[in-house]
Amino acid sequence: CGIVGYIGHQAAAPVLVEGLTRLEYRGYDSAGIAVLGSKGTTSIRRVGRVRELEAALPKRLTGTVGIGHTRWATHGPALEQNAHPQRSQDGRISVVHNGIIDNAAALRAHLTQSGVELQSDTDTEVIAHLIAQADAETLEEAVLTALARITGTYALAVLDERHPERIVLARSGSPLIIGIGDKEMLVASDVAALVRHTDRVVHLNDGELATVTATGFRTFDRGNSPTSSEPVEISVAA
Ligand code: GLU
Repeated sequence: CGIVGYIGHQAAAPVLVEGLTRLEYRGYDSAGIAVLGSKGTTSIRRVGRVRELEAALPKRLTGTVGIGHTRWATHGPALEQNAHPQRSQDGRISVVHNGIIDNAAALRAHLTQSGVELQSDTDTEVIAHLIAQADAETLEEAVLTALARITGTYALAVLDERHPERIVLARSGSPLIIGIGDKEMLVASDVAALVRHTDRVVHLNDGELATVTATGFRTFDRGNSPTSSEPVEISVAA
């Protein structure tokens, strides 16, 4: 339902929680974040309100890269294990997803046959496993490889412990926006989560992907060719 992301110089967790709070008006049944720090990924998920998630966060969550999600369940009930981020078996890849993967049942069956122990009832979980399994040099190529096997709608934000300096995004049928800050970048599915931080945003086009780092972004297409998405100014009414 709602996606947020942060990469920069501040602790990511409070920014993510604040962004998720801004998206609460859209409705949701559970929420979660994943933050990358020196000890790898910390992921906290809760059924219920964002403030319950906030109360469950460890005190010292200092990582400066992270993604968050408010879920409106389509595949699997509102349980903690079905909340996002969904992760690969080794925990290396974390994914938040808005939308519906149409061929999730077939992909889940295939993954189970190949020895993956699925941890959730969601369509989203398959994306994390497919990215982790992809035989690719870069995270961007791994995401493209995974997406080639998926049909459906999605806005995705992906973290990889091997590439802690970036968040990779993909958009097909569900909105996703990059917010440009000063040595920090934000991600959201709705400008409501960005307006407190910046008035310069990039709307990903349908079919577009992006790599976001603390100091910049680049967009590319399904063939991994660069695209030219220009920042625009948003006027803030609130
Ligand atoms: N289809 C996904 C799920 O059920 C994402 C739902 C959403 O957009 O929040 O977990």
